Amino acid sequence: ENSTPTNFIRQIVNADRASGKRDGKVHTRFPPEPNGYLHLGHAKSICLNFGIARDFAGTCNLRFDDTNPSREDIEFVEAIREDVHWLGFEWAEQRHASDYFEVFYRCALKLIAEGKAFVCDLSADEVRAYRGTLTEPGRNSPFRDRSVAENLDLFQRMRAGEFADGTRTLRAKIDMAAGNINLRDPAIYRIRKQSHQNTGDAWPIYPMYDYAHCISDAIEGITHSLCTLEFEDHRPLYDWCLDQIDLPAHPELAESVVAAGLRYAPSRPQQIEFARGNLDFTVMSKRKLLALVQDGLVDGWDDPRMPTLTGSRRRGFPPGAIRTFWERAGVSKQNSVIEYGVLENCVRDELDASAPRRMGVVNPLRLVLTNLADDHAETLDFPNHPKDETFGRRSVRFSSQVWIERDDFLEEPVKGFHRLVPGGEVRLRGIGIIRCNEVVKSETGEVVELRCTLDEQTRSGSPGADRKVKGTIHWVDARSAIGAEVRLYDRLFNVADPDDDSDGKTYRDHLNPDSRRVVRAWLEADLAEAAAESTWQFERLGYFVADRHDHSTAQPVFNRVVTLRDTWAR
Ligand code: ATP
Ligand code: MG
Ligand code: MG
Repeated sequence: ENSTPTNFIRQIVNADRASGKRDGKVHTRFPPEPNGYLHLGHAKSICLNFGIARDFAGTCNLRFDDTNPSREDIEFVEAIREDVHWLGFEWAEQRHASDYFEVFYRCALKLIAEGKAFVCDLSADEVRAYRGTLTEPGRNSPFRDRSVAENLDLFQRMRAGEFADGTRTLRAKIDMAAGNINLRDPAIYRIRKQSHQNTGDAWPIYPMYDYAHCISDAIEGITHSLCTLEFEDHRPLYDWCLDQIDLPAHPELAESVVAAGLRYAPSRPQQIEFARGNLDFTVMSKRKLLALVQDGLVDGWDDPRMPTLTGSRRRGFPPGAIRTFWERAGVSKQNSVIEYGVLENCVRDELDASAPRRMGVVNPLRLVLTNLADDHAETLDFPNHPKDETFGRRSVRFSSQVWIERDDFLEEPVKGFHRLVPGGEVRLRGIGIIRCNEVVKSETGEVVELRCTLDEQTRSGSPGADRKVKGTIHWVDARSAIGAEVRLYDRLFNVADPDDDSDGKTYRDHLNPDSRRVVRAWLEADLAEAAAESTWQFERLGYFVADRHDHSTAQPVFNRVVTLRDTWAR
């Protein structure tokens, strides 16, 4: 039942369970900061955290890491909830780090009382100057030896809002000579008189990430706190805070959590770091994604070209394909960049199995079968999926006029072109062999119609049905087809590493100008009835999804999810 490939984190969890560490419990959390939409990189963390909880009989919380009020917004909270659900996961509990503001504060008072934290009046620049470098130890702040009483008084006045932003910080008293700079008396609180989306103006001080994160983990009983590699150097601080505060031994520190009716069973969590997931041909920093949206370079967070989860959804990527992708990519401590084509192949694999087939023509050319009666009309029976009978069958209309793809005809044949040419033959998919007798052109010389004959001897069930021709092309009955808007999406960037600005160009200079092309297409009529977000293979063209927002029976709109083959392969 657990088919997920193992990895070094699963091995740690497994060993912890086997040895009965923390009573064999497994509690993880996914802790997004609600300052943007989730992207494909976040999906790696979601799959890892929720996947481990699922496979080891544990639970996973969704925790909004909302300790920095300036960039956070309730719009993002809602979007993140929806995206995690869409990806196929359910959290045990939803929490906010801001649920714990009172606990953080009590813990800080405890550190101060024990002489392990002090209020520092150095400015940000001075703190930097005192911090030292990788090769030089830092210097003690002149405020480091303040008495416990003075620190308590000042910190309580910080909390009461008596001091201006940036004038003071609360710092952990650790070691200014530590090799690890994160241990050189790091700030754990700063003054910031800014309204918070959850707590309003209740707090003029906000805790720093390293301090708040480990305490949040402990409060929620997290056992394995999984984070990306850049936090490896922060782990000693994570451990220091937890050891000094020792939440499980001090229930009084968390009274506010219990009073709020939140489940409270604290743990001593373990931080484990893994490599970020990176994809080529895209950018995944929230800052850059926000800029693309704000500057109108894409049509919003859910633009089908965006690497956001909501964009992937609108593009028609099945959530299962994203899960499979990150499973196949694995989890390690080695940073790497995965080819976007690998994700597209996961999408193709899943849609090949799950998408019913239809015929559609995106660049239409009229083709008239002159040996059929003008009013000839018949209904054929086609399978919905060539490899899976459970998809059933459908009726396909056929008459003396069909649309074919303009690219399937060449007036002047080139070597290796096996489709239709003047005087040549090709098989119309599911019908029989046709011959092109006449090419009709407009006054400007554009080909507007092909006049052909159908070899009735080659129709299915006829004696000549197995006569061979080199090419088979798809078509749509011109009399019954529906018109649709089809959006042909391609990659948003046209270079593998849009983040590379070493040549003076930025990601904005590498936007693919052909990443979105909108065409009028002709489709089999029943596609008007397609449910929003249903995905289909349009034979020979690719996979398409009925647009989540814009598709309707009256005005069908389909997005190309991905072509059938990787046209970017080098
Ligand atoms: P950004 O740097 O773009 O703002 P972030 O990492 O700060 O992203 P958070 O909202 O803090 O964004 O991330 C939530 C969780 O998702 C964190 O645990 C983070 O480590 C994880 N995460 C973010 N990006 C990736 C990625 N590319 N691969 C794996 N995990 C990621
Ligand atoms: Mg962050
Ligand atoms: Mg970040």
